[in-house]
Amino acid sequence: MANVLWLQGGACSGNTMSFLNAEEPSACDLVTDFGVNILWHPSLGVELGNQLQALLKSCTSGKTPLDVFVFEGSVVQAPNGTGMWNRFAGRTMMDWVRELCAVAGFVVAIGDCATWGGIPAVAPNPSESTGLQFLKRNHGGFLGKDFKSKGGLPVINVPGCPAHPDWITQIIVALATGRTGDIGLDDLQRPKTFFTSFTQTGCTRNMHFAYKSSSTQFGQRKGCLFYDLGCRGPMTHSPCNRILWNRQSSKTRAGMPCLGCTEPEFPFDDLAPGTVFKTATVMSVPKALPFGVKKKEYLTLSAMGKLAAPQWAEEDIFVV
Ligand code: SF4
Ligand code: SF4
Repeated sequence: MANVLWLQGGACSGNTMSFLNAEEPSACDLVTDFGVNILWHPSLGVELGNQLQALLKSCTSGKTPLDVFVFEGSVVQAPNGTGMWNRFAGRTMMDWVRELCAVAGFVVAIGDCATWGGIPAVAPNPSESTGLQFLKRNHGGFLGKDFKSKGGLPVINVPGCPAHPDWITQIIVALATGRTGDIGLDDLQRPKTFFTSFTQTGCTRNMHFAYKSSSTQFGQRKGCLFYDLGCRGPMTHSPCNRILWNRQSSKTRAGMPCLGCTEPEFPFDDLAPGTVFKTATVMSVPKALPFGVKKKEYLTLSAMGKLAAPQWAEEDIFVV
């Protein structure tokens, strides 16, 4: 039996909604099939007030073993580093997080706000939000770059806005069943099994990408969303076209560009007007090129692709 505690900081509850929609495995499967004991969760816990405080204190004192601590949302440090803008169960959430991370077997940050600070940390960041072990791409965050949980791992980052339901439950299962050795982490502490490939891996529009055939409107069934609509699929590490959403679709399959929500820079350009759903270019060359591709090679590749494009590349061939 593995005790799992889930708390929320500066959050919209999107990752909680995602978690409750998980299918492979579902939140119920965690309890019935994988020996997870959910000590408390904001949408599932029954304890309130003094009872909840007693439960949390029992964890921080070590009386109740805390195997996995899951945190959703940013760590709110405002005003002036006191954390008083986010109080919970009688004290600042910041203080609970510090003490719970110190006793937890493993710490999991779910969603962009908990991993990198997310939308709350967009400049000027009035809530002084940060992620658990990163602020954007800067290593450190709330716990510091040297933090390791009792189980010997740094914070396990499962980013996304929100994270896919099954990424969440599969990581909890791996930790609860002692398969931590299977969780290789990349340099941003994301599980490699999910975050080595790209959103573009498995995208049904790849042929249109190759032939430089562009979608110009949301929902359009032909074309690729990279050239005009700002799709970040070729430079975003995510399995969104391998592990489908609702088991059947993804943003790009539905004709919506990938926004790069699993990368620390999300939301890119801090949501400055005119930067969303638009491919920024310099002299007609996209500013953000596919991961690992240099400008010169890109120019060659796209010119050749356009030259070789067959007629059907400009037709509606049902790419959803
Ligand atoms: S729609 Fe996006 S992910 Fe799909 S092929 Fe085009 S750039 Fe890549
Ligand atoms: S397609 Fe892109 S923006 Fe959408 S969930 Fe996946 S990584 Fe995030």
